[in-house]
Amino acid sequence: MISGIILTFKTLGVILSYMVQAAIQFPYALIHRHTYRALLSPNEPPKNIVVIGASFAGFFAAKELLQTVPSGYRVVVVEKNSHFQFTWAFPRFCVLSGYEGRAFIPVRDGLKGYAPPHAFRWVTGCVERIIPDEKTNGGSGGEGKIVLTSGESIEYAYLIVATGATATLPSRVGKNDKAEGIAELQRVQERIGQAETIAVLGGGAAGVELAADIKSYRPEKEVTLIHSRGSLLNTYGEKLQQAAFDELTKLGVHICLGERVQLAEGQTEGEIQLKDEAVSFDYIVKCVGQSPNSQVISALSPSSVSPSGHIRTRPTLQIADMDFHNIFAAGDILDGIPLKNGRAACEQGQLVARNVVRDIQGRAMLQYHQRWWEGMTKMTLGLKKGVFTINDGVAEACIFFKGLPLDMGSHHIWSTLGVKPSEEFQ
Ligand SMILES: Cc1cc2nc3c(=O)[nH]c(=O)nc-3n(C[C@H](O)[C@H](O)[C@H](O)COP(=O)(O)OP(=O)(O)OC[C@H]3O[C@@H](n4cnc5c(N)ncnc54)[C@H](O)[C@@H]3O)c2cc1C
Repeated sequence: MISGIILTFKTLGVILSYMVQAAIQFPYALIHRHTYRALLSPNEPPKNIVVIGASFAGFFAAKELLQTVPSGYRVVVVEKNSHFQFTWAFPRFCVLSGYEGRAFIPVRDGLKGYAPPHAFRWVTGCVERIIPDEKTNGGSGGEGKIVLTSGESIEYAYLIVATGATATLPSRVGKNDKAEGIAELQRVQERIGQAETIAVLGGGAAGVELAADIKSYRPEKEVTLIHSRGSLLNTYGEKLQQAAFDELTKLGVHICLGERVQLAEGQTEGEIQLKDEAVSFDYIVKCVGQSPNSQVISALSPSSVSPSGHIRTRPTLQIADMDFHNIFAAGDILDGIPLKNGRAACEQGQLVARNVVRDIQGRAMLQYHQRWWEGMTKMTLGLKKGVFTINDGVAEACIFFKGLPLDMGSHHIWSTLGVKPSEEFQ
């Protein structure tokens, strides 16, 4: 009881501190916009701070930089997708049609809006390699260039790697282009529509949300959620685990726990061998196994990548290898971070941006320590119900709500990214 009250006050404190921070930042950003100069002298081109990836971590790193970047530097964002892909909505849009376009946000326009003149360049492309500059690496230097699959190379003074992870739907769409992404979502909708029996593999957030959405939108389907652990959502608190279990059971989802299933390569239907029986399904959806996109760092500095493929960093979020002072990482790609979500990625992106600016200014860098409130999560439990969960390690609160919009409140995320909701919302 007492710990619950303390948690409520702590949460209100966090919300208040966010509001104060935003209010303080606004005038600073305004002054910066009018005082920033890309060129320090006519013969000296601006140095590039390159951000690879413009999802949660990369976007918030770039936004922070655009509002604080010292004169003489500019921000270059390289992103392989045509649009920001709103992952949180993918489980829902795998089930419900008509909203798919809202999950693809033209984030380049949002960043442009934060940028002083000449401070920003957007490049749509995939980074293949990092080539460090021999002369400046080691010691306090560390500049270099990145090479894209197109062959273009871009020099960097600082580099932020925010390349996240790859997976298949319902976790990631696996396509670079908006039209292809929409087609991929519609392909899954069609498979779900045609199947009478559906197995959802993986009882993490994506699996729970997908199973609940299918069963609440299409109650006639037989939906089985299969999870390898003893409880659903095993990385979250016990109250949330129980709430998800109860709600899915109420919806009529069969839940199989402690079942580690092996699928044949590319298998999306047919038989699954459980401990006690083999069961056949018309459609099998995998909600497990995201692989980190760390190839550019593993090729440059194998010791900076863990066996799981995540990037090892120092507390300042510079990569672990001391030879590379100017390379940072943020977001889901990081190794050793217990809570991986959009909020944490945004915090890490902002911290990395601040550290780049501090380093340019000769100030000591900040250290990243994950805080409990980065784990605040909103999760849907079917079309009509959801739960907001907070856990400070001592107490856990689950607040249930009804009536979340069918499109998962997509317009909020568009506004958060500084993009005006488009014709997708008409
Ligand atoms: C189904 C689902 C639901 C979720 N729901 C929530 C939620 O409710 N709340 C929450 O806080 N979090 C949620 N998350 C987690 C959240 O989406 C991730 O933590 C977040 O997306 C991580 O952001 P990121 O920027 O680190 O990486 P990513 O989102 O993976 O983005 C990486 C970016 O880098 C780009 N990239 C990769 N390699 C290259 C390259 N070589 N060159 C150029 N670009 C490259 C990619 O195209 C991509 O845009 C959810 C995740 C999933 C899958």
